[in-house]
Amino acid sequence: MYRYLIETPHTEQNCRNLVHLVNAAGYLNHFDWGCMGGVHCGWAIIEAENESQARRGARV
Ligand SMILES: [Zn+2]
Repeated sequence: MYRYLIETPHTEQNCRNLVHLVNAAGYLNHFDWGCMGGVHCGWAIIEAENESQARRGARV
């Protein structure tokens, strides 16, 4: 297993939808969000075998 940093840059307009999607996928607790500070991006460390699996796992 390797550790991958997943970034989810988004616009203020997409913010609610994205957080909802990530929450629905069960990954909300994995992410740290910059939204409250006006930086609309989330970051998470995902453990996976490769990058594409990490992105699938994070559903972003
Ligand atoms: Zn946001």
